Amino acid sequence: MSGKVVAVAGATGVVGREMLRVLEDRNFPVKSIKLLASERSVGKTLKFKGEDLPVELLSDDSFNGVDIALFSAGGGTSKRFAPSAAKAGCVVVDNSSAWRMDPEVPLVVPEVNPGDIQKHKGIIANPNCSTIQMVVALKPLHDVAKIKRIVVSTYQAVSGTGQKAIAELEGQIAKLMNGKEAECKVYPYQIAFNCLPQIDVFLDNGYTKEEMKMVNETKKIMGDDSIRVTATTVRVPVFYGHSESVNIETEKKLSVEEVRQILASAPGIMVEDFPEKKVYPMAINAAGQDDVFVGRIREDESIENGINMWIVADNIRKGAALNAVQIGEELIRRNLLRVL
Ligand code: NAP
Repeated sequence: MSGKVVAVAGATGVVGREMLRVLEDRNFPVKSIKLLASERSVGKTLKFKGEDLPVELLSDDSFNGVDIALFSAGGGTSKRFAPSAAKAGCVVVDNSSAWRMDPEVPLVVPEVNPGDIQKHKGIIANPNCSTIQMVVALKPLHDVAKIKRIVVSTYQAVSGTGQKAIAELEGQIAKLMNGKEAECKVYPYQIAFNCLPQIDVFLDNGYTKEEMKMVNETKKIMGDDSIRVTATTVRVPVFYGHSESVNIETEKKLSVEEVRQILASAPGIMVEDFPEKKVYPMAINAAGQDDVFVGRIREDESIENGINMWIVADNIRKGAALNAVQIGEELIRRNLLRVL
């Protein structure tokens, strides 16, 4: 396979650095790589395959000759630069929320809706991290039993907010343990030893933007507007790995054993469900892993056809970097690079 010219926009961030690791780990066919970030990072270097490479300023001219650009530099930066990148002939896989609900832009999780990649016009969106891990686990069940309703509550790690939030939790723990006051810059309140029932801004309907992302993105990825979804998203003092309590109501009844079997044979999923041995998914074990882990599978005894489960994944890996690189691999497999 011939190598591709790859650009990573936001290469110095939490997601960008993980993208470099995932490209290496999966032996993505890289001919050359461009590391792009803001003027703050010009002069820095990052390691790729053992080599120190310079970080360059992201600009409209960054994408000439680039085959694929992985963006993780915030929504405003994607809105500003993704169109010029696509115009230059490269395919953009964007991690921000800027393009996700654009009807012209496919929103893709390769285990769920790989075929949607086919419709791209230069930009493909990577879904929200909490949505990705949930749909990976729910799509195989939807195919068998048709999901009518999803009720999800999330327990999301601070790494989902980027480098500054990781530093804020570390700093607050150190200060509080030394009898000092916690400093709050990234989150509105102390996150150390606390849970914040607010991720992103509040909307007119009383939900947060993160909660409505889960509702709307789930329907788009599953290709089914009839699924009813309601979400409560919570930030917890965990560094890496999002956890989710998910309740589904299905048209056809599923037993716990059936759910375990369906999920065990589905791509990208690891069933960890031995309650008698106290085995269940946990963020500390999912961190650094590629799979979506599912456990605590139980029948919801309050309704006719309901299942409860606990879904955990590394938000930076499957929730962002890995999913984006998998989209890149799918583009190569389908010969869909180079739109011009
Ligand atoms: P981060 O650690 O704060 O990194 C932000 C990156 O964007 C840095 O490389 C930064 O460069 C770059 N950047 C910011 N403004 C820029 C500009 N004007 N021009 C060029 N580069 C700019 O954040 P992150 O967690 O990696 O997240 C990055 C994006 O991925 C966000 O859109 C986020 O919503 C999305 N995302 C994150 C997650 C997650 O779990 N963290 C999951 C899915 C999607 P400098 O270092 O030069 O400032």
